[in-house]
Amino acid sequence: MITVQSVGKRYGELDAVSDLNFSIERGEIVGLLGQNGAGKTTCMKMITGYLEPTTGSIKINDIDMVEARTEGQRLIGYLPENAPLYPEMFVEEYLLFMAELRGIKSTDRAEAIDVALRSTGLIDRRRQLISTLSKGYKQRVGLAQAILHQPRILILDEPTNGLDPVQIQEIRELIKRLAQNTTILLSTHILSEIEAVCDRVLILIDGQLVSDQPLDELLNQSRVRLSVRKTSDEQKQEDLQSKLGALEGIKEIKLLSSDETGLHTYLVSYLEDQKDQPLSRLTPLLANEVMTNGWALGELSVHAQSLEAAFRELMRAHVASALREE
Ligand code: ATP
Repeated sequence: MITVQSVGKRYGELDAVSDLNFSIERGEIVGLLGQNGAGKTTCMKMITGYLEPTTGSIKINDIDMVEARTEGQRLIGYLPENAPLYPEMFVEEYLLFMAELRGIKSTDRAEAIDVALRSTGLIDRRRQLISTLSKGYKQRVGLAQAILHQPRILILDEPTNGLDPVQIQEIRELIKRLAQNTTILLSTHILSEIEAVCDRVLILIDGQLVSDQPLDELLNQSRVRLSVRKTSDEQKQEDLQSKLGALEGIKEIKLLSSDETGLHTYLVSYLEDQKDQPLSRLTPLLANEVMTNGWALGELSVHAQSLEAAFRELMRAHVASALREE
């Protein structure tokens, strides 16, 4: 289990990440999503003990990564971004070198290497020079070194960065296979990567954790688009908005636009509960509330939220709140 508590990292004047709080349970595949410079690598380097947090604490199981770094690192396999490999070495030779570095007992090394080669589909490449491997296969070598000591936790920094679509697919399949026995935290700026591999997503914007949710929950936050028209001059859109907002199951109701003809369009969001299917209950409730208040109903349509839309919305909210603070 990974526990990150109130963690911040400052480089000179820059808060690369601040006040990070999350924990990852055994068996989860968690994606750390963020744009370039959001702080993903910084976060991963701190979790793996290669960088000390400026504030807060990180524990792997109950091991503090500052006080007992080496002990913690034994439990972790780490694939850094642009993993350094030795191009002049053969695959097997490199893994043997890494096994020695990791302190794997000499009697256990051959088996550890064999398991890592098989898990990453490298068994036929073991006598190939690393410099002659394709990028995708080099990435497999990086993954093989990360799992040599059979860690319970794998930290993968942008594992498919720079690969072609076929290689991306292969590495994702590999990660999913590894996830059968390992807890995985992977970082990416690619939304489809999260959807393809992860069951939970942490979204980092400007070093701040703005969302931490199971992926299906995030995607199930469907939206209802609602357009209504005034039928008399006395009607106030604020009154209708607050009445609609008070309906059971509504999370938020946002006014998207209103025009001089009295047409108002809202985006209504709520957390879908799979069991009770409130969507089917909610749309008639909305329609009814609109009409009993004497408004004319225009559009009422349902849109499932994509990860891209969720990310854009979080980004917008983050920028708006940063502007308010200025
Ligand atoms: P990318 O997707 O581009 O790899 P990232 O999300 O991994 O980005 P980080 O590499 O963690 O982001 O960087 C976060 C911020 O901290 C950036 O603004 C970066 O320039 C800055 N930064 C990272 N390392 C250092 C350093 N050693 N010294 C100063 N600033 C740094």
